[in-house]
Amino acid sequence: MRLGAVEAGGTKFVCAIGNEHGDIFERISFPTTTPTETLEQVINFLQGKNLDAIGIGSFGPIDVNMKSDTYGYVMNTPKLAWKNYDVLGHMKEHFSVPIAFDTDVNAAALGEATWGAAKGLDSCIYMTVGTGIGVGAIVEGKLLHGMSHPEMGHILLKPHHTDSFKGVCPYHGNCLEGMASGPAIEKRWNQKGAQLQTNEEVWELEAYYLAQALMNYVLILAPKKLIIGGGVMKQAQLFPLVSRQLTGLLQGYVSENQYFYGDLSTYIVPPALGDNAGVCGALALAKESLVQG
Ligand code: ADP
Ligand code: ZN
Repeated sequence: MRLGAVEAGGTKFVCAIGNEHGDIFERISFPTTTPTETLEQVINFLQGKNLDAIGIGSFGPIDVNMKSDTYGYVMNTPKLAWKNYDVLGHMKEHFSVPIAFDTDVNAAALGEATWGAAKGLDSCIYMTVGTGIGVGAIVEGKLLHGMSHPEMGHILLKPHHTDSFKGVCPYHGNCLEGMASGPAIEKRWNQKGAQLQTNEEVWELEAYYLAQALMNYVLILAPKKLIIGGGVMKQAQLFPLVSRQLTGLLQGYVSENQYFYGDLSTYIVPPALGDNAGVCGALALAKESLVQG
């Protein structure tokens, strides 16, 4: 099986050719510019590669409802050139094989459940903490969709009593993304996250917000694994901090079980596929589109 993978990010695109085992044979990456220019590069790379299917994991918001007239479109994004752009339709003009289309984070969740940290599990959460905060979920073996896709990066938080920062989300100000994304850290502390490595206060506060979000996901979806990736999580000290804060917030209300126990170091983990989580996710979407027929 030869599969094409497209990780369509807001700042860069990664395209790859791989197979149903998650092996990647060839890969390229380029910056995201206008839709026509960017998709032309995608098409040039994938064309003539004898593919059986293509998977696209895209930045959002996107329409993932197959019954909708705008299925496969990028919706109301602040990246104006992409707003209401028919990504899937454009791709279908050039390829006749099945093309799967979902969010970047749903794709990453599927990739991790197929080959990575949630392998063998029928539920998990994949969260990326980077330029934005996005969350994908697998529930009862299926990628979670509703009227479209959930937006679990924009949930409401209780601000910390010492934190007067107003947040950077253009829609909600101090939602999770507004308070805990990479740009939020940079604006609050006037320095990029990577330069704040030794400032413990920064990461305690970051963990305070991330743990609140995870508490909500645990209580609402009861996932069997929480996978957290993205640039900000390169600060590996966040993992034990988040685990401790989550345990504190839950107050023992969620009983220990085979997935959720002890210091949560096997429950809250980085992506096993590392920086390939996104592109392997797109590969997994492509594979799934063939399995489902
Ligand atoms: P994107 O979300 O655009 O796909 P990333 O996941 O790499 O990209 O996230 C980029 C964000 O992560 C930036 O805001 C950057 O400042 C932050 N970041 C990158 N590396 C680190 C690091 N080592 N420590 C803390 N923050 C980081
Ligand atoms: Zn928001």
